[in-house]
Amino acid sequence: MELKTLKDLNLIPIVHQEWNSPDDAPPISIDLKPIKEDLHKELDDKITIENDANCFALAEATMGAAKNYDVVFGVIMGTGVGGGIVLNGKIHQGRTFIAGEWGHHTLKQKGNSCYCGKNGCVETYLSGPALEKRWKEITGKNETLSSIVNNINN
Ligand SMILES: [Zn+2]
Repeated sequence: MELKTLKDLNLIPIVHQEWNSPDDAPPISIDLKPIKEDLHKELDDKITIENDANCFALAEATMGAAKNYDVVFGVIMGTGVGGGIVLNGKIHQGRTFIAGEWGHHTLKQKGNSCYCGKNGCVETYLSGPALEKRWKEITGKNETLSSIVNNINN
C-alpha cells in the first residue's frame, strides 16, 4: 500500500507538541524508532506524536461527551490507569508533559508495590490487573476482570 496522506493511516493530524521521537514523549513507548520523522518522510505531511490519553481527552473535548466544556479530564482505566487534561480545547501538558497521568500518584503510603518503584500508586488499586489480583485475594478465584463483571451481572 502506498501511503500518501495521513488519512491513509487513519491518523488525525493533531499538532500540539514538537517531539522528534518517542524518546521525547515520556508516556509513549513504541519501539524507539523515529516514527515522527519516518511518517513525515513517507507522507510529506506535518505530523505530531501525542500520548494516547491526551488524544482521547482531546477527542472527547472536541467531538465527544465533553464537547462544549472548558475543562476536561479524560480518564483511562485498563491495564493501567491514565488520563489527559484539555483546557479550552487544548491539551494541557504540564511542566513535565504528563499533567493528566494520575496512575502513579500515591493513594496509600506503604501500599501495594508498583512497577514504577513507588508504593501505593493509584494504578496498583484501580487497574484491571489490580482488580483481578484483589478479586483473587478475596475469593481465591483466578478470573479475568470481564469474567468477574459478567458473573456479578448475572
Ligand atoms: Zn507507580
